[in-house]
Amino acid sequence: MNFEKNKIEALRELFAVPKRVVIVGHTNPDGDAIGSSLALAEVLTARGHKVTCALPNNYPYYLKWIPNSERIIIYKNDEQHLTEKALDEAEIIICADMNSLTRADALGEEVAKRNSAKRVLIDHHLFPAEGFDIMFSYPDLSSTAFLMYSIIVALYGKEAITPTVATQLYVGIMTDTGNFAFSALTPELFEAVAALSATGIDIPQIYNNVYNSFTEGRAKLFGYAINRKMKTLLGGRVAYMSLTEEEMRRFWFQQGDNEGFVNYPLTIKKMKMSAMFTAQQGFIRVSLRSRGNVDVDTFARRYFNGGGHKNAAGGKSFVSMEETIEHYIKSVNEYHEEGLV
Ligand code: 5GP
Ligand code: MN
Repeated sequence: MNFEKNKIEALRELFAVPKRVVIVGHTNPDGDAIGSSLALAEVLTARGHKVTCALPNNYPYYLKWIPNSERIIIYKNDEQHLTEKALDEAEIIICADMNSLTRADALGEEVAKRNSAKRVLIDHHLFPAEGFDIMFSYPDLSSTAFLMYSIIVALYGKEAITPTVATQLYVGIMTDTGNFAFSALTPELFEAVAALSATGIDIPQIYNNVYNSFTEGRAKLFGYAINRKMKTLLGGRVAYMSLTEEEMRRFWFQQGDNEGFVNYPLTIKKMKMSAMFTAQQGFIRVSLRSRGNVDVDTFARRYFNGGGHKNAAGGKSFVSMEETIEHYIKSVNEYHEEGLV
């Protein structure tokens, strides 16, 4: 990665003496948000900084094995107000794998209240928000973890990549690229992976820890979602699925159990776009995936108060499941009339 020199130098200067640092990730944290936050925390802690990692809400059980993930404070469960204390004292606040403080909901609001700390953005989503002192925003990259790798190496060299850091970063790269199946698979990314591999990490084990560690309920819920809930539109070129709270309870749902379901309709050859609607407390989470030129980032922005990447985006709906689906069908038809799907 070729960074503008002054940007890396600004970061180097920021970390020149030990500081109090808070690293924040997005709501419904994924492997990339967790892996890249923990890796940076690891590297900075080893260099004398006092680092707190905070996430807005809990993350799936199959990511709990990630080395040192127990250091993460879950803001939603933070009865001791450790996050607020850390933010009060913070000299640097780093937002990882999110393009705006709004992506961290209530935790983002806490960050927004602290004006004295320097704010750094490290992210790969489109349309980064303003208000950061240093911005590493690279929407062409596959993952924040790859960006984080490049920043760590630019600052401290490859020696900084210990097996622990390599494991954390590999989780982020593996999950955000769908185990090296999505776009943005550049030679530079594989060079980074080669360097991670050279630390001796066990790549098949990391894969197993994430993708072969689900519950029985998750497998059954997946079968149910595909068999009973998948519907198609536009002659089978657009799909959607939905899960209500009652359906999730029926399969002993645990947070993260529906992760990845939205990708499955795209295994059908002619499928161009897929949506998953999952009931949450007070709203419906919308997950969108697409193939090729169909742009679900724009779709999510336009119709579901969201965003993300061209082929993977998300948003929220604040009406009932039936109305959400109705809105989706109408939106797909409008998109189709404009030649966008
Ligand atoms: P997922 O479907 O896995 O939750 O999210 C896919 C992509 O869309 C991720 O890159 C995620 O950051 C982004 N995304 C998901 N939900 C939202 C949202 O509510 N707002 C925005 N701006 N992006 C989202
Ligand atoms: Mn990411």
